[in-house]
Amino acid sequence: MVLKRIELNGFKSFADKTEILLSPGLTVVVGPNGSGKSNVADAIRWVLGEQSPRSLRGSKMEDVIFAGSDRRKPVGMAEVSLTLDNEKGMLPVDYREVTVTRRVFRSGESDYLLNRSPCRLRDLQELFSDTGLGREGISIIGQGRVDEVLSSRPEERRALIEEAAGIVRYRNRKREAVKKLEETEQHLIRLGDIIGELQ
Ligand code: ATP
Repeated sequence: MVLKRIELNGFKSFADKTEILLSPGLTVVVGPNGSGKSNVADAIRWVLGEQSPRSLRGSKMEDVIFAGSDRRKPVGMAEVSLTLDNEKGMLPVDYREVTVTRRVFRSGESDYLLNRSPCRLRDLQELFSDTGLGREGISIIGQGRVDEVLSSRPEERRALIEEAAGIVRYRNRKREAVKKLEETEQHLIRLGDIIGELQ
């Protein structure tokens, strides 16, 4: 799966609409300190559903919205879109190109879009689970992450290996099925009580 395009608008230091086109092969982002290189990586993690402002180097989610500078007023919304090549069908959807978008307004309102149609965060999490781009994804290795993995608890390391092995999706589905079964069992018990009362 190849990342083809990143579009940022109002995200952190990217006040204006900015399009980053990625050619096949290795891409290196270079620039002076504080020029926004890490903000690009933050944008990728954010659009993929990152929920922790701290891991995006902020204190609240609003911190991802351009906060203004000496020459520019703050903006009211941050939006990031990521376009992935899905020619090989790694993502379980019928599109050959997949664009995921996330936006957030200062009011706190936020949206997720899949190929420009509204969707839920859960849909995106399901879409990316087992691809390495999921919540426990291994596609983005941040500074200090290697040390963290080596010193992490066995269960945390296991979660990473499971994501790489591609079984997270099935584990999640099993958990949901078990929950439904438990609910159904409770309904059956209740039904039994009602039948007992009627007899
Ligand atoms: P380094 O090489 O030092 O790691 P970098 O190129 O990775 O730097 P970033 O950390 O991506 O730089 O960007 C930091 C810049 O982004 C700072 O100048 C900071 O003021 C700016 N910035 C972060 N969040 C916002 C925001 N919400 N609004 C405006 N600017 C922001």
